[in-house]
Amino acid sequence: MFKGILIEKDEAGYRAGIREIDDGQLPDGDVTVRVGHSTLNYKDGLAITGKGPVVRRFPMVPGIDLVGTVERSDNPEFAVGDAVLLNGWGVGEVHWGGLAQKARLKGDWLVPLPERFSPQQAMAIGTAGYTAMLCVLALERQGVKPGDGEILVTGAAGGVGSVAIAVLAKLGYTVVAVSGRAAEVDYIRRLGASEVLDRAEFAAPGKPLGKERWAGAVDVVGSHTLANVCASTRYRGVVTACGLAGGMDFPATVAPFILRGVTLVGIDSVMCPRVDRLEAWRRLGIDLDVSKLELISHEIGLAEAIPTASKLIAGEIRGRVIVDVNR
Ligand code: NDP
Repeated sequence: MFKGILIEKDEAGYRAGIREIDDGQLPDGDVTVRVGHSTLNYKDGLAITGKGPVVRRFPMVPGIDLVGTVERSDNPEFAVGDAVLLNGWGVGEVHWGGLAQKARLKGDWLVPLPERFSPQQAMAIGTAGYTAMLCVLALERQGVKPGDGEILVTGAAGGVGSVAIAVLAKLGYTVVAVSGRAAEVDYIRRLGASEVLDRAEFAAPGKPLGKERWAGAVDVVGSHTLANVCASTRYRGVVTACGLAGGMDFPATVAPFILRGVTLVGIDSVMCPRVDRLEAWRRLGIDLDVSKLELISHEIGLAEAIPTASKLIAGEIRGRVIVDVNR
């Protein structure tokens, strides 16, 4: 038996609770992992609260991230005792995830825990941080250089935003952040942002084209915010879109794309090929100042993950939440 969060949905409703789970209930997979830590991402918040249709099979153990030690392996790539890391692949959505003391997974989804990071540090980064790095890599791939001008990061006090600011600042970019939380302005500046704008400036419907300002952007908000970011991006600038914290719609015009040659790059971390994941984690090892992770993250126990999920969706959590599943 092991302990985990189980999400159930039946005639009694949608609910998440801590349960004792039998090993025999674990899903199919060629690697069994003794989980040490997981995290709470926005998607986990939606899954646990039921505020978004993230879970597509019931009962479900949530948790799109995990680190742990291989307990059993029928996969030649992994041996008992290996330290491994998992992000995404539908885990915590269609396959039981990391918010439990044990997980059984496909070895193809696992990557070795990068040597540069402790298990806690890897989870302080988690899917949010690895997605932030995918955004930075996309900006680089499109040719955006530190000298080109300001980079805008929305949802700055959240997980993706926090790591994106820290990485971009270390790489020498000038980062302008957007946040709705005046109380976190000092935190956002300590991460490396040179200026913090109020998210209200981006939230309302705007003009098809605004004053050209951003050489690049990382947007986690979507909706009018993403439309306004595109409209104020400079000629041939690059906007990476990875989130929907403000809405899934995109009420924009084509003007920034056809009149200013703006590039909009979509970022997906879930099905991202292994080679790109390994590159993102390699670059995090070089371009993220690990001392910033203490500022960005805090740790909670498994039982606290359920109330914390509601706070995360309400936008009350700063940075990243690490979950010690054995506490
Ligand atoms: P967090 O909850 O940690 O951060 C989201 C931040 O967005 C909040 O802290 C807040 O920042 C801002 N925000 C929240 N609600 C609104 C709103 N209504 N309008 C404007 N801004 C808002 O989430 P994550 O950083 O983990 O994830 C951010 C987004 O990215 C989510 O939508 C998530 O689903 C998505 N995502 C996508 C991935 C992919 O593969 N494409 C992978 C990982 C995440 P502040 O308080 O500073 O304003």
